[in-house]
Amino acid sequence: MAQEDHFKNLIAHCKEYGFVFQSSEIYDGLSAVYDYGQYGVELKNNIKKYWWDSMVLLHDNIVGLDSAIFMHPTTWKASGHVDAFNDPLIDNRDSKKRYRADILIEDHIAKIEAKIDKEVEKAAKRFNDFDEKLFRETNPRVGDYQRKIEEITAGFASAMNNSDLAAIREIIINNEIVCPVSGTRNWTEVRQFNLMFATEIGSTADGAMKIYLRPETAQGIFVNFLNVQKSGRMKLPFGIAQIGKAFRNEIVARQFIFRMREFEQMELQFFVKPGNEMEWFSHWKEARMKWHKSFGFNDDDYRFHDHVKLAHYANAATDIEYRFPFGFKEVEGIHSRTDFDLKQHQEYSGKKLQIFDPVSGESYVPFVVETSIGVDRMFLQIISAAYCEEEMTKEDGSTDSRVVFRLPPALAPVKLAVLPLVRKDGLPEISRKIVNELRFDFNCQYDEKDSIGKRYRRQDAIGTPFCITIDHQTAEDNTVTIRYRDTMLQERVEIDKLRDIIDEKVNIRTLLRKL
Ligand code: ATP
Repeated sequence: MAQEDHFKNLIAHCKEYGFVFQSSEIYDGLSAVYDYGQYGVELKNNIKKYWWDSMVLLHDNIVGLDSAIFMHPTTWKASGHVDAFNDPLIDNRDSKKRYRADILIEDHIAKIEAKIDKEVEKAAKRFNDFDEKLFRETNPRVGDYQRKIEEITAGFASAMNNSDLAAIREIIINNEIVCPVSGTRNWTEVRQFNLMFATEIGSTADGAMKIYLRPETAQGIFVNFLNVQKSGRMKLPFGIAQIGKAFRNEIVARQFIFRMREFEQMELQFFVKPGNEMEWFSHWKEARMKWHKSFGFNDDDYRFHDHVKLAHYANAATDIEYRFPFGFKEVEGIHSRTDFDLKQHQEYSGKKLQIFDPVSGESYVPFVVETSIGVDRMFLQIISAAYCEEEMTKEDGSTDSRVVFRLPPALAPVKLAVLPLVRKDGLPEISRKIVNELRFDFNCQYDEKDSIGKRYRRQDAIGTPFCITIDHQTAEDNTVTIRYRDTMLQERVEIDKLRDIIDEKVNIRTLLRKL
């Protein structure tokens, strides 16, 4: 199936099965804002728990924080967001569509990369003894594409670093980048657009103060850095982890929950001795990639993308990208933020944000390595990887199909469904008893409606890893059948063994132990 159809079906599936709804849908929706339904919220909570435990539970030197969304407005002056949290936007005069100029260029580069991949693919089919590395180095056409990419990338990095809007436009014009809707090159000038939402705090018009909805959770950590350090008697290196909402007035909102105006971030700010930041940057790069790969999806669908344009606060930065149905895109950013933020807050607040090093006898502002991941993007990553439309051949030779969410069991919204084979002969009562026993350990669902086949399909569609069927034999010998979502195999097991069998697969511990 084409990737585009796969993605469309996934979005429809999320709505039909209570994972994600458009916000305020009855009023025709609000662009780039989404609500999570009954199963979506469970999956999202499980993702957050796994991240939180992997940080706070597994590290002696990482603690949590929950800071407010509203912050003193000077925070955003100090952090640079008032002056520099801009995206370059450009309009196409024919389609009247607005684009992020940097994304138009990045998409153009991705298209050239795709052309190279096609050449490689074609050649691999042609030659038996195919040496991909050699081919990439020596094939003239690939060489031309590669040089083009390098040329655009260099110009792009310099234009972005210098906020040279005319140069950004020139790259779009010179490379004949067209509007995906109108197909024309009738572009306006490039303008800067600040992404922060503003509102007012206070009741009277003249006493009200303009404040911002935070565009990242990080600053709440920085301004509390000394509170946590002192009250927790933390010593370097140490980290503060936080999960919370962030808001950005994104220019182009596309691709479902990939780019939202209200979203959630999971951020770690890790404070280190100046000079040690590169070592910790490498450490967190590897640790975070391991976290992503622990879900057991295809390893080839993840890659690092080192930044050419460094944010104003960073001395090294990389993204962890995932191969979404619409191409490789960022899921998480890892940044070496230097001492920029703490120094800025020190200057703007007039309060010292330093730490005393008993070994050297000096006080200094620590350096920071940040890992920042969007919960919603992570959610999209998981469901994109897990969504599967399967054709099956039954024992009698006929074919059937099912939609199955192959979610990692530890993240699945419902861990087990308990299904009485028939709605009589005491089977519902036995089923209810099992649910009432196991609901203290797992999110369980009882379902007695429709045929057993239909009930299995419903559970497959929401990603439930285990279905327990109660039949007449259960009443005689206390055994049930357990059906495994992925293989659809069934086994007869004793009721008393259920908790252990299920726990071994669905406990978050199974993921945490891989780290
Ligand atoms: P992008 O380049 O895609 O706009 P970014 O580099 O601005 O992202 P960061 O500021 O590094 O993103 O934010 C860290 C993480 O927060 C991102 O990796 C992403 O997972 C998430 N994130 C950022 N913006 C959004 C958004 N508008 N909607 C959903 N998640 C987001």
